[in-house]
Amino acid sequence: MPLNPSVVIVGAGPSGSSTAFHLLEHGVQDVLVLDKASFPRDKLCGGGLTRKAQQELDRMGVYDDKVATEAYHVPKPYIVMPSGNALYARPREDKLTQMLVLNRRILDEILMRRARQRGAEIREGVEVTELVREDGRCAGVRTRDGEIFSADVVVVAAGARSARLRPDGARSVELVALEGRYSGEPIEHGTACLVFEEAFTPQYGWVFPESEKIVNVGVAVMGRGKAKELRARLKVMVSKYLPRHLGEACVSCRTTGFPIHASYKIDHLVDGNVLYVGEAGSLADPLTLEGISQALVSGRHAAGSIAAYLRTGEASCLGAYQETVRRELRHFAYMRWVAAILKRRSGARLLEAVLRRTPKWLVDEKRFASP
Ligand SMILES: Cc1cc2nc3c(=O)[nH]c(=O)nc-3n(C[C@H](O)[C@H](O)[C@H](O)COP(=O)(O)OP(=O)(O)OC[C@H]3O[C@@H](n4cnc5c(N)ncnc54)[C@H](O)[C@@H]3O)c2cc1C
Repeated sequence: MPLNPSVVIVGAGPSGSSTAFHLLEHGVQDVLVLDKASFPRDKLCGGGLTRKAQQELDRMGVYDDKVATEAYHVPKPYIVMPSGNALYARPREDKLTQMLVLNRRILDEILMRRARQRGAEIREGVEVTELVREDGRCAGVRTRDGEIFSADVVVVAAGARSARLRPDGARSVELVALEGRYSGEPIEHGTACLVFEEAFTPQYGWVFPESEKIVNVGVAVMGRGKAKELRARLKVMVSKYLPRHLGEACVSCRTTGFPIHASYKIDHLVDGNVLYVGEAGSLADPLTLEGISQALVSGRHAAGSIAAYLRTGEASCLGAYQETVRRELRHFAYMRWVAAILKRRSGARLLEAVLRRTPKWLVDEKRFASP
């Protein structure tokens, strides 16, 4: 274990493991990752891996023989529009699948082990309680046991529950989600659905199969204190959309909730020598809740900026990290527009008309009637 690691990373989820892995790829040797959990650990999440996430996993060398082998393949995910029409994505013919679904207990352990195998020191069961400030900069982190780890750079990769480690002024949309796992006999194969019911928009509900017989169903709403609304929406998802995927489904796991920090505004990712990656930087998408690809991408860019900083001593290298993430996530500007337009009935109709003419989509005439 390096006594004075160059970089301390708080959290070994996708963003922390990605940062650690890419730092080692850049030749930074002294990388210490601290996570309060012991792996494998659960993380409430749909586990949907977009093509972007799959590309990042491929870069980390865990796609072919790990993730793609363990995950459920979804070549034809579909969206239910507020009109009730279902639009299916057209299957692609390259190595990546339109969507994979992998339980986070499995995915995060694969990523954590990859970073460790590459040379990162990862300590499990160690909770960071605060960033230690000295002379206007961050000197390291303090753990719940009072131990202090000093570092040249600290990366906060602690996810949605990292409020006390976040910089002043960082704002994001807080969503809460509720999900449950259901088991039964499969009806549809190779599909998953994202439901933009008129009553749900701009949030949505999902039915993501983790295997032929186990399906994860969830819903999200904006703001806190919405337990009743979440339960009502989950009921709609289970009675109306789950039967298309599973026959005679029964709950295989209790339903639980979790917050999500999301924003289309990419800021407050750098605070002196502290960098924020993944959901600690509010990089989840407020509309789709996708956060894994952004966690992996931001970890990769943070690593590049830190490596340049450690090589040159130029503080501007750390500052450049935020701009690089902005460039890579420039589709957020388009998604913000989609989220705004979906809120209006006329906007949703317009969006559906546009999607129907896009070669990426196959239109299914089966309609889901309003309840
Ligand atoms: C219900 C739900 C459904 C979702 N569905 C999807 C989906 O289908 N696809 C998708 O792409 N995204 C989805 N997301 C978003 C996705 O889960 C997150 O954006 C993603 O996990 C962010 O990764 P991360 O590494 O930043 O944080 P996390 O995955 O939350 O990892 C943070 C890590 O930090 C550790 N930690 C926290 N605090 C401390 C501390 N003080 N000290 C030490 N360690 C600490 C935790 O133990 C954890 O291991 C969903 C989220 C929710 C809530």
